[in-house]
Parts: sequence; structure tokens; C-alpha cells
Amino acid sequence: MPDFERRIVAVRAALAGSGGAGLLVGPGADLRYLTGYDALPLERLTLLVVPPTGDPLLIVPALERPRAESQGVSVPIAGWRETDDPFALVPKAVGPAKGTVFVGDRLWAAFVLRLQRELHGLPFGLASSITGPLRIRKDPAEISLLRDAASVADDVALALADERVAGWTERELSRWISDRLIAGGVEHVNFALVAAGENAASPHHEPGDRVIAPGESIVCDFGGTIGGYCSDITRTYVVGPAPDDLREVHGVVLRAQAAGTNAARPGVPCESVDAAARTVIESAGFGEAFMHRTGHGIGLEEHEDPYIVGGNSAVLEPGMAFSVEPGVYVRGRLGVRIEDIVVCNPSGPESLNTAPRDLVELPR
Ligand code: ZN
Ligand code: ZN
Ligand code: ZN
Repeated sequence: MPDFERRIVAVRAALAGSGGAGLLVGPGADLRYLTGYDALPLERLTLLVVPPTGDPLLIVPALERPRAESQGVSVPIAGWRETDDPFALVPKAVGPAKGTVFVGDRLWAAFVLRLQRELHGLPFGLASSITGPLRIRKDPAEISLLRDAASVADDVALALADERVAGWTERELSRWISDRLIAGGVEHVNFALVAAGENAASPHHEPGDRVIAPGESIVCDFGGTIGGYCSDITRTYVVGPAPDDLREVHGVVLRAQAAGTNAARPGVPCESVDAAARTVIESAGFGEAFMHRTGHGIGLEEHEDPYIVGGNSAVLEPGMAFSVEPGVYVRGRLGVRIEDIVVCNPSGPESLNTAPRDLVELPR
């Protein structure tokens, strides 16, 4: 069980340190991080209010209260009935402190504008400036959930190596992956991208009716959640035998992925991890064909800080978790991406994904 109380205490300290009047977050990752509550994103107001001193308050529609309580929420809950005005509860929950009101980055505009009226005169800022520095370093309970999520994804990647997928559509393979993730215990499949042949040259291709044929690169990028924490893995397959150009490109991406992972150590800037992977691809002559960043942080959200990208000079710290996912995309022909989730440990990088990274030749 994560230590929600410690997290609230840390938010209060951050508010006090930055002259904040309060933290206001709606359904989403911040709320789950601070209370364990996986709230539905309704048009009715659900809002956690954390003042710099005093008790936090979770404002929920009365009909959601049983759900919140069943999820073990331990902060005080105020349920509001359909004819009540939930916004009237907010100024009291914030209290007398003056200063910035930090609202959830993904709180709906309809709520934010209304809150600005209720708390008129107070400047507004983004909650991520308070919660971001906390969430970016995962505690052991979080790493353990990320590891569990990665292990389910690994099992699916491994099982796929035995399938005869020639003749399947991308959509059928995507469905197969989703079904396996759910059978493996994920609560929610976040995505199951399958891109075959020339479609593999598009990094975020939506699986469609394209039929998979032998000799084509098949990029499979998928993930789901365990205890709210995400997995995200990419492996590239081919119904054998693999053509020479695919082998060559795969070898380059494999070396780039290893170089990126190996660079991920405490004190190293995020952009250096990107550069480590990118240099390998550039010196092989494929620099133009690697058109995205090397990775993204991962946790309660699929994409969160830290971003492993040129220009991000923030340094890695122990507990940070992120993807290392270089790719090469040859338009009209093929694509290769290899992605693992990597944790920056005090002693160096640890890849949570362990499924083999080589070009997997599927049986015909
Ligand atoms: Zn992506
Ligand atoms: Zn991915
Ligand atoms: Zn990713």
C-alpha cells in the first residue's frame, strides 16, 4: 500500500515552500497518486483540495462516495448531492491562505473557470509544479508495480514469438495482444499498436486491415496497467526469413537501444541519453529516419516526466523510470523500434523489460 499520507505531507511542504494557497486536483494521475482514488472523469465535480496547513478534503458527488470509500481513500470526504453547489465547498476547504492556487494540469476548463470565480483574486498555477517533482522519482512500491506491469508485457511479447501471424490483419494481431494482456492480469489495455510492412514506417500507425505477409517488419508496441501503473514495450517481428535490409536496420536500432539504456545513470542529463542512442543511428546513416525523442517517463501515466529528448538538461536521479525506444523508419518500406522501460537505480540502469530484443523470426 503506497504511503498516501507521506505524499500529502510532501505536497503541503511544497505548497508552504512556494507560497501556495492550495492544490486542487480532479480525476487523474495526481489524485490517484495522493489518495489512491481512481475517480471517473465526470461532468460532476470531483476535487481534492490540499491546503498548505490543515486537513485535505475530497469533494465527490454523493453517488461516487461508496466507490471512493471502497478504494480505501483515507482523506476526509465531502459528498455533494445533485441539488448542492459543490463549488461553494472549495473556498472553505482552501482556507484563509493567500497565494497561488495550483490546479490539476488536466482539470477541465469548465471547472477551472468556475474555480477562478469562486477564488477570485488568487493567481492560478499548474499542479504539476507541486506534484511533478514528487511523482518523477518512484518509490519502491511504485517500482514494484511498474515491474509487475513490465513482466506481463514481456510475457505477451514472448508468447507472440510462437504465433503464426502471416495472413492475419494488423487489427487481428492487435486484438490478440490486447486479449493476452488482459489474460495476464492488466486492468486496462492502454494501446496495442501493430504496424506491418510500409505501415511500420509510421511510428504511431493505427492497426487496420493490412494483411501481414512474410518478410515484412511487424512493429508491436503495447501496454496496460497493473495497480494503475503502466507498461510500454515495443518489439519488432518478422515472419521469417528476414530480408537483409530489415536485419541491418534492426541491428542498428538494437545497438542504439543498448547505448541509450547504458547511458541512463544518476547525474546524466536526459538529453545525453537521447544523444547516446541517436549517435549510433546517425553514424549508421539513418539519423533522418529517427524522427522522435528517445523516450518518456512512465508511471501512473503512459507519458510523463522525464522526457528523454534533446534540449532537456534535467539530470536523471535514482527512482526515475522512463522508456528507451529508438526507432528507424524507412518510408514505403519498413520500420523498426525497440522499447524497454528503464529505471535509474543508484548503481546504474535497470531494464524492467527482459523479453529478448533481437529481431524475432515468427514461424511461417
Ligand atoms: Zn509512442
Ligand atoms: Zn510504446
Ligand atoms: Zn513509449
